[in-house]
Amino acid sequence: MAEMLTTIKRTRVPLTELEQSAFCTTESLVSKPLVEEFKSGVRWQRLPIEYMRTTAPELDDRIRAAKGKLGKRLIILGHHYQRDEIIQHADFRGDSFKLSQLAAEQKDAEYIVFCGVHFMAETASVLAQPHQRVMLPNMAAGCSMSDMAQTGDVEECWDDLMDTLGPGSIVPVAYMNCTADLKALCGRNNGIICTSSIADNVMQWAYKQAPRVIFYPDQHLGRNTGLKMGIKLDEMVLWNPFKPLGGNTKEQLGHAKLILWKGHCSVHTRFNPKQIQEARAKYPDITIMVHPECPMEVVQAADKVGSTEQISKAISAAPKGSVWGVGTEISLVNRIAKENSDKTVFCLDPVVCPCSTMYRIHPAYLAWVLESLVKGEVVNEIVVTGDTRKNAKLALERMLQYG
Ligand code: SF4
Repeated sequence: MAEMLTTIKRTRVPLTELEQSAFCTTESLVSKPLVEEFKSGVRWQRLPIEYMRTTAPELDDRIRAAKGKLGKRLIILGHHYQRDEIIQHADFRGDSFKLSQLAAEQKDAEYIVFCGVHFMAETASVLAQPHQRVMLPNMAAGCSMSDMAQTGDVEECWDDLMDTLGPGSIVPVAYMNCTADLKALCGRNNGIICTSSIADNVMQWAYKQAPRVIFYPDQHLGRNTGLKMGIKLDEMVLWNPFKPLGGNTKEQLGHAKLILWKGHCSVHTRFNPKQIQEARAKYPDITIMVHPECPMEVVQAADKVGSTEQISKAISAAPKGSVWGVGTEISLVNRIAKENSDKTVFCLDPVVCPCSTMYRIHPAYLAWVLESLVKGEVVNEIVVTGDTRKNAKLALERMLQYG
């Protein structure tokens, strides 16, 4: 019956993923006036012309001046993958959840400017105090992985799984990198959220609730975590939203312990085992550390696996002279390398290829948002309300309790 209810859809590649190579270069990354960056053919939010032509040093001065005027009423959060020209203005830097928690703890701050991507600002809004207002400097700053799990597609998948397997047979686990609507789906259905650093703890909790898990939107984090927990590859199936029943039979779904949504990160899927072999050939004593959003073959070829926070901490604590080949986003790897100049730290991908959506937070947008606040105007506000907020918060609180 479920097959008949599911229509075949046409494959959509998220625009965010198509743009991934727009800023890949073999040179270093330095912010240019926005009007010049627009020449790469990107489709970002338009700004008043004065911000389009302003140089990075001028923007830097204007951001500092506006920040000074706003004082304690403002906090700026900077995700690890942001440009250096942005991160220097951040009051806090970290991964998405650490930043959202920090924001909620800053009770004096009235304005939270989240320099990251859309789902992060949504999470900050879910966790914010009632008087706090959350802003995302560029509304086009999405996430290609999050875009691969559209709300309607995941809801349809959940309904198909209920029809096929029955209530109580499966629990949803959502990676932080998805919309508030999909976090709320977890909250409503006894599910839970995870981050890359606590995915295995969260999954262990989930398997106490039901014999089966659907993990979305990142198939690689889900697969790597499942393997770490002892789940075999033939007990996992992939859910392709463009096929009836995700491209599976009822029997395959019934046999599966782990159903993986067919999504991926366009940054972390750039890494491959050949890069690791080459790094090992050049530096025999190297330690390879990669993010768990990398494909299984890369994770298995690495020495260590960890989230952005774990990678930063491991390298900071490493002995002088040690050599690190890192598989995560280039802006973070370059920053770690600068902050650990007594060690050799480099990105395994020889092409300098930042996360294209994180890169959309250009200093011109930050200057515009702050100068608007100085004038008493809130622009680019992100608000999550009603049942979505309530249920998303429930799933996030389960993560804090059991993760
Ligand atoms: S690095 Fe990957 S998962 Fe993170 S924001 Fe960019 S596209 Fe999304």
